[in-house]
Amino acid sequence: MNVLLVEDERRVADFIERGLKAEGFGVTVARDGLDGLDLGQQGAFDVIVLDLMLPRLHGHEVCAQLRRNGVLTPILMLTAMDELDDRVKGLKLGADDYLTKPFAFDELLARLEALVRRAGNFEKPTERVSCGALVFDRESMIVTCGEQRLDLTAKEIAILDLFLGAPGKVFSRQRILSSVWGYDSDPLTNVVDVYVGRLRRKLGSGPDVPAIETVRGHGYRLDKPA
Ligand code: CA
Repeated sequence: MNVLLVEDERRVADFIERGLKAEGFGVTVARDGLDGLDLGQQGAFDVIVLDLMLPRLHGHEVCAQLRRNGVLTPILMLTAMDELDDRVKGLKLGADDYLTKPFAFDELLARLEALVRRAGNFEKPTERVSCGALVFDRESMIVTCGEQRLDLTAKEIAILDLFLGAPGKVFSRQRILSSVWGYDSDPLTNVVDVYVGRLRRKLGSGPDVPAIETVRGHGYRLDKPA
């Protein structure tokens, strides 16, 4: 999947770019509206992430001009909390969806995949992921371990989903933080450790239950049961 990201705020752009690249997507960043319009017209993208407040050309204008010029690439607008009118206007101008800042990376990813899927050129991700006795159903958001249903919070589920996407892979605290909490999270917080600790206790242990292993100096990984 190739993404055009039109965002002038460096911190937000870096956050999105890093996350998408880690998922294996191609990312091109435009730092102002005119560049965004130029690149968007070249048509080599599966989806466009478009900020509204941009130098040189407002996001609404970028969106309107792309549509006027026959560019059908799905557009996800990034808006601030208090810009309801902007969102309505953006959708009228031809944007397909919007996401309110601040947002967690996984929410952005889910929206992008949904847009591209709707446009008909993206494979549906597996709805059920599992490792040993642990099964997560993404449709119903239910996690079971063997016969038992686990009572997990949304954040705990988001962490587990990340691990289940790549059992054995080490995820750094920063990666978990930006995936689950978003770019507004404080990198110095120990919230990841606290949540992983809770998740570990809820998973418990058993012969076919995967363990969340601490990899010192790196982060955490889900260890496949033998
Ligand atoms: Ca901006």
